[in-house]
Amino acid sequence: MEKIQIPRGTQDIMPGVVELWQHIEEKMRDLCKRYNYQEIRTPIFEQTELFRRGVGETTDIVEKEMYSVVSRGEGNFTLRPEGTAGVVRSYVDKKLYGVPNQPTKLYYCGPMFRHERPQAGRFRQFVQFGVEAIGSADPAIDAEVISVAMRLYQELGLTGLSVDLNSVGTVEDRARHREALIAALNPVRDQLCEDCQSRLDRNPLRVLDCKVKKDQQLTQNAPSILDYLSDESKKHFEDVQAYLTAIGIPYTINPRLVRGLDYYTLTAFEIKMSEIGAVETLCGGGRYNGLVAEIGGEDMPGIGFAMSIERLLMALEKQAVALPIETGIDCYLVIQTEAAKTKVFQQVDVLRQAGIKAEMDYLGRKMKGQLKAADRVEARFAVIIGESEMEKGAAMVKEMATGEQEEVPFDQLVNWILAKK
Ligand code: ATP
Ligand code: MG
Repeated sequence: MEKIQIPRGTQDIMPGVVELWQHIEEKMRDLCKRYNYQEIRTPIFEQTELFRRGVGETTDIVEKEMYSVVSRGEGNFTLRPEGTAGVVRSYVDKKLYGVPNQPTKLYYCGPMFRHERPQAGRFRQFVQFGVEAIGSADPAIDAEVISVAMRLYQELGLTGLSVDLNSVGTVEDRARHREALIAALNPVRDQLCEDCQSRLDRNPLRVLDCKVKKDQQLTQNAPSILDYLSDESKKHFEDVQAYLTAIGIPYTINPRLVRGLDYYTLTAFEIKMSEIGAVETLCGGGRYNGLVAEIGGEDMPGIGFAMSIERLLMALEKQAVALPIETGIDCYLVIQTEAAKTKVFQQVDVLRQAGIKAEMDYLGRKMKGQLKAADRVEARFAVIIGESEMEKGAAMVKEMATGEQEEVPFDQLVNWILAKK
């Protein structure tokens, strides 16, 4: 039979690597508790219409990256390409704006799906961790959201990261900038890439975000959105910077930074690592004051970010950060004679219930083979039970590293091992 291949752009996360994921998830949950963000779990698929409205018709995601299915006469559904739209749908649906604790501070962590060209750090199924703070327009919450992402990276051991920061203004600011931008870029329209020619008509700000080198040169002197901010937008931008400075988070203002998503207003940011090579953005986010109303809720301001665990792992690898991953178990119980097997089986159960990591043989190995197996699973102790041990009611415990042996009565095994931990 022919082997069945894993789908392109996906990966199996195997034992040995999954521990890294678990470690990151633990850190992330702990951090969110400290910053008072609560977890929300939304469906992996939603009505396609949610992403059309929530992510935006002119984004790469909606134009070319969605996995959609028509579901037996019940409409069109899409595997979620990102987390914000679903969280906001739920926020509106559950009327979270009405609960006493405000702003609403939520986080999520789960798989997202985009039909992309697979390459380093770019998958078709990837896991995003993100937070959303909805219900406050305070620039301090912008800085808090940025700090959640930065502190996670820092607490995991990454160094030298910096925040690229911009303000894309309000809808009104952007309308004024848009006119100037179109006027400036129209003369070079024909030299822009095909995507940008179409963006120029539909969402000209995104031309600034183009990854094509030639386009970047052509648009080098294009009018900056920062020159079109109202006084109020400017003040918001300055306040965010002051709060970031107050907590020691380094940032660089990048007037060309526009996030790929349509619903961003005011603050837009990315966290980058310079030495990562082709893909250098670890995290992206920003304010989305128009989104909640777009999804059918009351007009509530919001801000959030999303980062993928895949890119985080890439960054950790590039910086050679070793995460503290525990391997090995406490003890391996060795069956010296067939008659001792039930006793071993029962002892393993007692040890495990007491919180001790214990293993035994299920392959009928000889004693030597079992001791080898104990080595392989990095057991600290071998607990040997044979005929004489059964008679004495005590096991022979051998410390694998030193070879030191000690007789320990069965009913004291748990306490003896716990005392050594
Ligand atoms: P890019 O410009 O790299 O395509 P994006 O604008 O599509 O990024 P967002 O939608 O803002 O990215 O997603 C936030 C973060 O999720 C990114 O900064 C990146 O860390 C991660 N990410 C996005 N797409 C992928 C992917 N296909 N595989 C792995 N991680 C991804
Ligand atoms: Mg993308």
